[in-house]
This record gives sequence, C-alpha cells and structure tokens, in this order.
Amino acid sequence: MNLFTLLERTARRWPQAGAVFSGTQCLQSWARLHERALRLAGALGAGGDPGDPPRRVAIASENCPEYLELMFGAWAAGAAVAPLNYKLHPREMADIASDAEPSLLFASKTLAPGLRDTLPPAWSKHVVTIGSAEYEALFRSAPALPRDTRPETLAWLFYTSGTTGRSKGAMLTHRNLMASTLSHLADVEAIDEGCSQIHAAPMSHGSGLYIPAYVARGARQVIPASAGFEPGAFLDLCDAHPGCGAFLAPTMVQRLRVTVEAAGRGRPRGLRTIIYGGGPMYVEELNKSLAAFGQVFVQIYGQGESPMTITWLRRADHALGNAALLGSVGTARTGMRVRVVGEDGRDLPAGATGEVICQGDAVMAGYWRNPEATAETLRDGWLHTGDMGSLDEHGYLTLRDRSKDVIISGGSNIYPREVEEALLAHHAVAEACVVGIPDAEWGETVAAFVVTTAGKTVSERELDAHCLNRIARFKRPKRYVFIDALPKNSYGKVLKRVLRERLAIQDT
Ligand code: AMP
Repeated sequence: MNLFTLLERTARRWPQAGAVFSGTQCLQSWARLHERALRLAGALGAGGDPGDPPRRVAIASENCPEYLELMFGAWAAGAAVAPLNYKLHPREMADIASDAEPSLLFASKTLAPGLRDTLPPAWSKHVVTIGSAEYEALFRSAPALPRDTRPETLAWLFYTSGTTGRSKGAMLTHRNLMASTLSHLADVEAIDEGCSQIHAAPMSHGSGLYIPAYVARGARQVIPASAGFEPGAFLDLCDAHPGCGAFLAPTMVQRLRVTVEAAGRGRPRGLRTIIYGGGPMYVEELNKSLAAFGQVFVQIYGQGESPMTITWLRRADHALGNAALLGSVGTARTGMRVRVVGEDGRDLPAGATGEVICQGDAVMAGYWRNPEATAETLRDGWLHTGDMGSLDEHGYLTLRDRSKDVIISGGSNIYPREVEEALLAHHAVAEACVVGIPDAEWGETVAAFVVTTAGKTVSERELDAHCLNRIARFKRPKRYVFIDALPKNSYGKVLKRVLRERLAIQDT
C-alpha cells in the first residue's frame, strides 16, 4: 500500500487535466505532477538499510504548489514527509528537525535563511530552498519506479506541540492516511474530477491531510496566490474554480462570513463544501455562517493522532437547525469507534462527561521515538484523546473541555507550558501561569499571570519583546496580569480554574 498510487491512477485517467494551480493559473497537469514526483523519488534514491525506519523529508514552507510534488515524490521513494508549521520560530523548527532527523529539509525562500542560521552547521547542508537551482536539479534525475511500501510504513510525521514543551511526532502510516482518506470520501463529501480543493488553511496540517482524498478523485489543487488565507481572494477563487471545497478553522469561517456581509456579495458560485474543525465553533457563529453561505458546512473532529477522523457533523445535521446538534461534533466516522469513559476506563452513560477515546485504522502507530508518551496515549488499543466530552443517546458527541488545557487560537494550538517556560526564562519572572480566554475573533487568546521576582519589576512591553524572541508570535500572551502569588491546591498545583474566574470577574 502506497498513497502514491492515488496520484498514479489519477495521472493515468486524466493526464492532461489541470492539477496544480497558483490562484487561477494552472502550473501542472496530472501527468506533469506525476512525472516530477517520480523524478524527485529518483533523486532521493533507494534509502537506508532494510529494517531502518523510512527516511524523512521535512517541509518548512507557507502553502506552496511544490508541496504536492514533494509529498508524492517522498512517498514514491518510500520516504515519509515531516511538514513543519511555518509559523513556528526558527529555533522551534530546528528542535523538530533534530528530532525528525530528515535526510533533506525543503524550505521556502522566506524561511530557509533563518533555518540555515539556526540549525547546527552540519545540518544546514540538508536545507534545500524550494524553487532554487539546487531544487530544480533534483527534478532532472531519471524517474524512479514507485516503491512498494507496506501499510505500516511511516508516511507522515505529524508534529503536535507536547505539554512537556517539546513537540511530539505522531507517526501516521500509509494505512492511517488511507483510512482517513476513505472515511473522508465515504462520509464527508463526494468529490470528482469536476471539483477543486482550495488550500486556505496550512498544508502542513488540516488542508494537507485532505490532499490524498482530493488527488484520488482528480480534483484540482488550488494554492491561493497569497500562499495563505485572505477572505476576499478565497471568495474570488470560489468564483473561478468549479466545485470548491476547503478546510477552514472556525475563525477563518467567521472572517469569511464577515467579509461577505461587509461586501454585500452573494454566495460564491463554485463554493461546494466548507469543512470546519480543529477548535470549537460557537453555535451563534455557525447559524450566521449558515445564513450567509447555505448548506455547505460539514464539521470534523480529529487530532494529529487520528488525523481529521474521529467524528463528523453531517451536512444534513446542519439543516435541522437544532442547537444541541450544532453545538456537538457529530457522530463517529465510518471505520471509527468512539467512547466516553470515566477515570476507571468504563463507559459512561449518555449525557455524562468523561474522556473521549477512539479506535480505528486512522489512529497513529505511536509517537516517534517516544515510547513513554505512546504508552500513555495508546492504551489497550484505544487512543486517549485528552478531550472531555459526552455522548447523547443517538451517539452525538459534545466536547466539553480539553483536559490538556491546550489553548486554540485562530485554529492553532498553543500549549500553556511552552509559553510559561518562555516567560520563566526572563530574570524578573518568578512564576507564570498561562490560560486561554474566550475571544470573539480568535476563539481563544493567551492570558498570562505573572509573579515577579522579589525586588524586580518588568513591563508588559518587555515581556512581549522577550516572548517574540523565543516563541512564535501567535503564541505570545495578548494580556498580562501581575499578581502576588498563584493560587495553588494542596499538591502545589496551580488552580487555573480560579485564574480564569478571576479574569471573567475583571471583564464583567
Ligand atoms: P490537533 O492535534 O492540532 O489537530 O488538535 C486537536 C485538538 O483540537 C483536539 O484534541 C480537540 O481538542 C480540538 N478539536 C479538534 N476538532 C474540534 C472540533 N470540531 N471542535 C472542538 N475542538 C476540536
């Protein structure tokens, strides 16, 4: 089993059809994409000894058309991709690179210089700038024959932030991604060669995980010219391409809706499906978006460890106008089992809140070189999601809270511990605790409670500059509260709940 076969079949069936687009401009046909992927596989070569894990090919880039040839080229060579979140600080990317140990790290023109400066000198030579002469030379190699990988061969090393502050690589195999692809085609949407996928969300995450499903059906791959999400440009693309589908984080949906309303423009002609998820979507917003765009919405709930595939809220569910359903994340995906269990691991009755656990072929093989974290997360054949939720009598799951305290801001995950560690690296900070606070635009933003070292002071501005030096911009606190001491329980654990309540009181 090799995900590359999805491209192979499409290239044989529709060789001359437009495959990869930058905005409205067609860059590659399916035949061309197929050929370039095989040439890259030729350049990557046969790889290590049998029994070694497959080589990793890291990608550090904003959304770009080359993502496709890199991904399928790596798979053809029997290698795995390790896409990095381009918003990370170069130091954070370097940490991930040293964990993944890629044989090559493809970086965009904007990110390559920072990575070369940050990586140890021996590593810098593994960086290839996408689009450079060195990059193009790889595609002059003779095409390779696609490798016959096994279902359990690593295909994608998906880096999630760890609460320990270090990212963990969820190992997604060809079987995992094939299962998630089949489940997508069975549940979420019917795709055919008259459709297009618009990559508005990062291709290193949600949008990229849908590439196999769309490529399998010969649907156009459209990368916005801006390489990211600009609501106006997105709407224009939905007018220009047929049968558009896109994965959007809830905040992106909101921005899209506001743009449509402000411009007084009608529903885009080619907009077929908006798949949203990755963070909570508030019912009020969903209702407004349904009014603006009609029945184009499907919700998914998943996580890096079970990519895009745990539950779904069907298009038809959105049409019922039932607030309880709209506030849920729907029912188990085809091929997945979902349970809600108490601390003793037993199933809870309908309506009771416990941990969400799931099982199925989409669930990762484990964390890369991290058996402790794997054993903690995969127990008795079940993925323990760390999300708290409840099931109703019809099997609809509602997420209540995230036991891991992850903050989701604009669709990106922020782990408090990472931000706390950055703050604590400042000499005037004695204690720090970070919590998420509800935000109408971003879903959540970061608030930091700071206890200063005796006899020292520090301003918000200084802490902001300090964080900008250490962590990605989007992770830095948007709000600071200086307090004398953090509230703690008898075990010395900080009571985040009390801190959140304190903020809520201040805001009323
Ligand atoms: P990630 O591994 O970055 O994809 O983050 C996964 C986490 O995002 C999940 O464990 C949930 O806490 C959250 N999440 C994903 N989908 C949804 C959704 N539809 N509604 C609410 N939270 C979600």
